[in-house]
Amino acid sequence: MTSSAAARPEAIRQHNLALVLSEVHRDGTLSRADLTARLGLSRSTIGALVAELTDLGLVEELVPTGGARAGRPSHVVSPHPEGPYAIAVDVDIAHVTTAAVGLSGVVLGRHVLALGPAASSPKAITRLIIDSIPLLQDMVRGGEPVGMAVSVPGTVDRRTGTVGFAPNLEWRNEPFGALLQSAARDLPVDVGNDADLAVLAEHSRGAGRDCDDLVYVIGRVGVGAGIIVNGRPLLGHDGHAGEIGHNVMDPSGPECHCGKHGCLETYIGDNALLTLAGVPTPTTDDKMHTVFAAARGGNPRALSAVRRIAESLGRGVAELVNVLNPDRVILGGTLSEVFDVAPADVLTAVERYAMDAPGQTVELSQPAFGEDSALMGAAEVAFARLLGDPLSWRPRRAAAAAR
Ligand SMILES: [Zn+2]
Repeated sequence: MTSSAAARPEAIRQHNLALVLSEVHRDGTLSRADLTARLGLSRSTIGALVAELTDLGLVEELVPTGGARAGRPSHVVSPHPEGPYAIAVDVDIAHVTTAAVGLSGVVLGRHVLALGPAASSPKAITRLIIDSIPLLQDMVRGGEPVGMAVSVPGTVDRRTGTVGFAPNLEWRNEPFGALLQSAARDLPVDVGNDADLAVLAEHSRGAGRDCDDLVYVIGRVGVGAGIIVNGRPLLGHDGHAGEIGHNVMDPSGPECHCGKHGCLETYIGDNALLTLAGVPTPTTDDKMHTVFAAARGGNPRALSAVRRIAESLGRGVAELVNVLNPDRVILGGTLSEVFDVAPADVLTAVERYAMDAPGQTVELSQPAFGEDSALMGAAEVAFARLLGDPLSWRPRRAAAAAR
């Protein structure tokens, strides 16, 4: 088809179904009147599209009862409670979280597995994830999985799912996506970088919904950034954009997992905070909670440790501000707590180190999804095919019955 050819009616119908489902997915519950106003389509067209999505088992329509004013109440459209769900997975250094996430981002069930050092090979993590699928299925009301997407703390080739480098898991060139795909059989599998997925979730339905130049800085044991420029993800030539954790702040600084010295991660990652607070590494959730609780309670050493991290974080943010001029920077993972305990130290450092103009306009905020931004972003990726083409939805049970 040439670019000047008129779209065929089926293509228009498919496009409009995708628009309606995407609106319901983003907002959860919408009236037919909302949909009509947002999409600029006629009431009868919206009615027909909603009926088709209802037949596909993707949405349900209810007529609101009570509180009726003059005129007919508008039907309310919501995701079908037994509709498809995404299997979203967040692989962190210390645990693997798997969740069943329904349309509109509702978490239907979740399973958290602690990881010992010996359990973090790609093969072992694949096993844990696959074994959790039936447990998640037991927690949902009867829908079926549409796909699985996995967040990892490392660089990822999105086409192949190969993890190039995940220093804190000690993975190099691991064909994790291929391994997962062969274990998941016919369930489509995607793998993405944690910060890239986190910024996607916050941009689509969280703390960055209203801005198109957005950065999400994730700080756990590792540090990275997910970047949206002009409303689109910035992934770089081969997916390595945003690896700010390995920007060298001082070549004579502490040794980093990546082999260099003085990377930003060695100044603002979890291990840096524990070391400054006098708590032995390796990092655990309990140790981190203890340090933040002590800092909030006014313990001088813990508070001074958090403030040192806050100052270095502000310097790191200032570099991002000078390069990207974002309108908002979301601080996620433990950096969200650093910002909560010592906001003035972060802001003062941004002001001190960034150029005046972009430094004055940038807003800093905490993520809307707390620790779940990457997990929610994984769900967005798993739903992407369905949202782009709702007619592709063929529940396996229905397909099996038709055979
Ligand atoms: Zn490094």
